Amino acid sequence: MFDKILIANRGEIALRVLRACKELGISTVAVHSTADADAMHVKLADESVCIGPPPARESYLNIPSLLAACEITGAEAVHPGYGFLSENARFAEILRDHGITFIGPSPEHIRVMGDKIEAKRTAKRLGIPVVPGSEGGVTSDAEAHKIAKQIGFPVLVKAAAGGGGRGMKVAKDEASLSNALATARSEAKAAFGDDAVYLEKYLGKPRHIEIQVLGDGRGNAVHLGERDCSLQRRHQKIWEESPSPALNAEMRAKIGDTVATAMRDLKYLGAGTVEFLYEDGEFYFIEMNTRLQVEHPVTEMITGIDLVNEQIRIAAGNPLAITQKDVTFEGHAIECRVNAENPRTFTPSPGRISYYYPPGGLGVRIDSAIYQGYSIPPFYDSLIGKLIVYGKTRNECLSRLRRALDEYVVDGIETTLPLFRQLVRNPDIINGEYDIHWLENYLAEG
Ligand code: ADP
Repeated sequence: MFDKILIANRGEIALRVLRACKELGISTVAVHSTADADAMHVKLADESVCIGPPPARESYLNIPSLLAACEITGAEAVHPGYGFLSENARFAEILRDHGITFIGPSPEHIRVMGDKIEAKRTAKRLGIPVVPGSEGGVTSDAEAHKIAKQIGFPVLVKAAAGGGGRGMKVAKDEASLSNALATARSEAKAAFGDDAVYLEKYLGKPRHIEIQVLGDGRGNAVHLGERDCSLQRRHQKIWEESPSPALNAEMRAKIGDTVATAMRDLKYLGAGTVEFLYEDGEFYFIEMNTRLQVEHPVTEMITGIDLVNEQIRIAAGNPLAITQKDVTFEGHAIECRVNAENPRTFTPSPGRISYYYPPGGLGVRIDSAIYQGYSIPPFYDSLIGKLIVYGKTRNECLSRLRRALDEYVVDGIETTLPLFRQLVRNPDIINGEYDIHWLENYLAEG
């Protein structure tokens, strides 16, 4: 096992990793920008290193600074959290070249899954069902028109290098396809420096259902069930739950086994998530995230498995300690992502937290790095906390979530808490009847 781990992240996820390290008896190194000198992850770590000025590209994304921090502190491994360098194959490679363990998959797997066209091709080869669409990238308008006609309108133009919903455009009909292609291309070029795009059938009312996996790189892999992340605005998840209100045990086992088998074939190492759209009883692969996800706690709550602990154990070279039979699902968990944003316009609302009172009690978990008097810097993601609630049944979970949201106080800034207080009382949400467009429609209705 490692003696010392450097956590190349900030905010709640830095704390999440730090907690797992402490429980494993591993020393922790926090890194921070000058804007984060007062951050909680810095206060709680055994050591900390300032790695640069506020902009992320000069600090949290600054590979030479991170390498120097590893060298100065003697850290043997780096946990990247999510975002920042967590899906950067080059970073994983550079660490490997310096004899430092990247807590995550091999650079090769990160690279394959980071290119959505390659990822889709790989998924198909491994027997995972994919969305009908172009076989690879589309290079000309004429080719796109031909393929679109075959799969049928509406179609979605997606960026090969895509992420965060950028470089994605719907074409309703033939007339709008050329325009959608051009817009997606220029958006992708601007955001990712790569204008490769591909076509997919646009699904009208799917749910977003993803499967959590763990593999040890030796051909052992298990799935930890699904998370339903259909409640999204601008393709960003805000509410995640497990189990999905749309699946039964048989469907879960079927898609879970398909994914676990694929991960065994791939000799996948670490934690990962295979994302699907689910419509009319069918699953369609959209992408794989080769890292820990924001919404991982809901899976932890219903399986009792500490995902970060497992990531660290596997990265240290230990074989998977659990088999599929050991994975059981009990109860229901929901996560709400609390952002420092206006709950209607979603405009960021950084600033000082004048009063803070997080909820507690049975089945309530808060993953957050904020505290009373803390000033949220304007430079980073606006996620300030995750409220994760567990109940024996979905109904118990919803009642508990309702009262936890009512207890939660964050004063001095705007947060998305009022939106969640409405959602948890909405009949569609209570009945579990929502698809990926539900929230946008709800918000549009005012
Ligand atoms: P990103 O990497 O940019 O997040 P994804 O491929 O994961 O892109 O898709 C993000 C979201 O976009 C999905 O959760 C879903 O809401 C929507 N989406 C993606 N592909 C399709 C599709 N073929 N049909 C309808 N919606 C889609």
